[in-house]
Amino acid sequence: MQGSHYVAGTPNAYIQEPGLIGRAGEWISRFGRKVFLVTGVKSWEAAGAKLADSLERAGINYRVERYGGECTYGEADRLKQLVEPGTELIVGVGAGKVTDTAKKLANDLSLPLVTIPTLAATCAPVTNLSIMYTEEGVYMDFPVFYRNTLLTLVDTEVIAAAPPRYLAAGIGDTIAKWVESKACSTGKPQNLPTIGGVQTAKLIFDTLLADSEQALEDARAQRPTPELQRVIDAVILFSGMVGGLGEDNCRSAAAHAVHNGLTTLPEMHAAYHGEKVAYGILVQLALERRPEEEIRELTGFYRSIGLPVKLRDMGLDRPLTGREMEELIRVSLSPEGTMANMPFPVTGESLAEAIRQVEAWTY
Ligand SMILES: [Zn+2]
Repeated sequence: MQGSHYVAGTPNAYIQEPGLIGRAGEWISRFGRKVFLVTGVKSWEAAGAKLADSLERAGINYRVERYGGECTYGEADRLKQLVEPGTELIVGVGAGKVTDTAKKLANDLSLPLVTIPTLAATCAPVTNLSIMYTEEGVYMDFPVFYRNTLLTLVDTEVIAAAPPRYLAAGIGDTIAKWVESKACSTGKPQNLPTIGGVQTAKLIFDTLLADSEQALEDARAQRPTPELQRVIDAVILFSGMVGGLGEDNCRSAAAHAVHNGLTTLPEMHAAYHGEKVAYGILVQLALERRPEEEIRELTGFYRSIGLPVKLRDMGLDRPLTGREMEELIRVSLSPEGTMANMPFPVTGESLAEAIRQVEAWTY
C-alpha cells in the first residue's frame, strides 16, 4: 500500500548482563510458569546446568527437548507433538538454528518465544523470521512471522565462553547489514523507518570495525569488557533492528544470496553461516564494482579477525567444477533467496565473474 510501513523493531525486552543465566528463571516467571525448551547438545552443555537451576528456583515447570541439528519444517512438526497442553512459553536455548526452530515452533503454536543465545553468531534471537533448511542443510526459504520475540536473555559470560570463531562469524554476518541494506534500500521509498534501518546498519558496521579485534581478545580471555558488550549488542540486537525498522527495504541482498548458494557445496557445511556471508559480502562488492580501497579495508579487517577472504579459507582446497559452479549460481539466484534485492539485475554470468574476481584478488 502506498505510504504504508510496517515496523517490528526489537523484542519486547532484551537484556545483556554477565551471569544473566542464573537469573533467567526470574525473568521467565514474569511471563509464564510452564515452558517448553528447545536446545542443542552443545548449547545445553554451555548453559543447561545453570539455567535448569535458575528455572527450578523460580518454580518453573519445564521440559527440555534436543532439536535434530537442522532447522527444518519436519523438525518443527516433530517438536509440536511433544508440547504439552497448558504450555505458556517456548524457550530456545542455543545458536541460530536452534533459535529458528524454536521460533517456528512458537509461531506454529501461537505461543510467545524466549530466546537465550549461547553464541553471538546471528541476529536470530531477535528477528521475526526463521531460516529453513532441508534435512541435508541446504537453504530453503524464510517464513516471516510478524510476531516479535518476547524476551531475549544474553549472558555475556556464556557468550565469552564460546569458541571465539563463532563470534568472528557473527561479526561477518552483522557487517553484511550495512552492505546489504544499502543495496536493498536503493530506489525504495526513503521513509523514516528505512533511513533508520540503514543508519543502524552503518552504526553497527563502524562499531564492529572499531571494536571487534579487542572484543575477540576479551572473549578469549573471557572478560566481559565494554568492547565485547558492544560487539554482542551489535551482533544480536542492533542487527535484528535493521530489518525490524526497514523491513522489506532493509533485507539481505547478494551477500546472503551467495551464502545460500555456498550451502550446496559439501565442504561449506563446516563453515559457519557468518563466514559464508562474509565471503558473500566480497562477492557483492565485486558485483557492485566497489573501489579497491574499500575492498582492501574490508579484507584487512577480515584477516585481523579470521574471516575468510577466499573459498579455500573455508576448506575448499580445489577449483570448483563446472557443475558445482552452476549449482552454486542456481541457488544464489533462486527467487526464494534475496538476490532480487540488489538494485540491478544479477545474472549467472555476472555472478560467476564476481566470484572469479574475488578468488583472483591479491588483497
Ligand atoms: Zn545472516
